Amino acid sequence: MKTGLQTGIVVGSKTRVRCIYCDVFIPKANKCIEQHTNGVKHKENIELMSENGISLTNEVLHCKPCQVNLTEGESVSKHIDGDSHANWMAAIEDLVDGEFINIDDYLSCDRDDVTCEVCDITLSCTLESIQDHVNSFNHRAKTVDRLKPLNGIFRVDNDAEVWCKICDAYIDNTVQGILDHIDDNESHMQWFTDIEDLIEDQDISIEDYLANEHEMNAFCNKCNVHIPCTVNKIEEHVYSESHLNQFS
Ligand SMILES: [Zn+2]
Ligand SMILES: [Zn+2]
Ligand SMILES: [Zn+2]
Ligand SMILES: [Zn+2]
Ligand SMILES: [Zn+2]
Repeated sequence: MKTGLQTGIVVGSKTRVRCIYCDVFIPKANKCIEQHTNGVKHKENIELMSENGISLTNEVLHCKPCQVNLTEGESVSKHIDGDSHANWMAAIEDLVDGEFINIDDYLSCDRDDVTCEVCDITLSCTLESIQDHVNSFNHRAKTVDRLKPLNGIFRVDNDAEVWCKICDAYIDNTVQGILDHIDDNESHMQWFTDIEDLIEDQDISIEDYLANEHEMNAFCNKCNVHIPCTVNKIEEHVYSESHLNQFS
């Protein structure tokens, strides 16, 4: 009989086994157990574990985010749907959004901590620790440095301001000033929305345009041509016959 940690099947009684992941009892017969472990729900629970920081040790399911062991009567999916787990997941996703902190390895239980990629430091994956870190001046300054070449923002002779190439506008050279421009300026954000919509799946790159002050062109890798990096010119190119023919 296939039992044990890998399948989540443990001895329940003389006549039944229990699936820890799904919190169900199954008749102690190979056919029944196999049918269960091949079932959609069982596989779903295993997948959910690896996306939610839940692992099995010594026949006990442990949730790292909640720092609790799941009890009998609590399947993986039931635990994940509960308030405390769902709230933690929503809060952490909110905290790391756009911050260059990847929590996938923590959630798959391959790691117990996380790395902030821009600061190159290791953090413990708790709401408090991540919140403190993303709000720290150091992290914000490093994030802004990382965002500048992705946003067409350049230093100017006077250190009090920076220049946004996309908007042709001067911005206060402060962490907050730059973040406000990137995250809240409507015309800046609109430009990105328009361009990204146009170049999606078109193999056109704008990275050089954004990162190099004097580069005025986007590049179409399909046609091997430069295109002035404006919404109008890129739109014209994307719908041009020569570009469309490259795809046929
Ligand atoms: Zn199961
Ligand atoms: Zn949990
Ligand atoms: Zn950081
Ligand atoms: Zn701008
Ligand atoms: Zn093209």
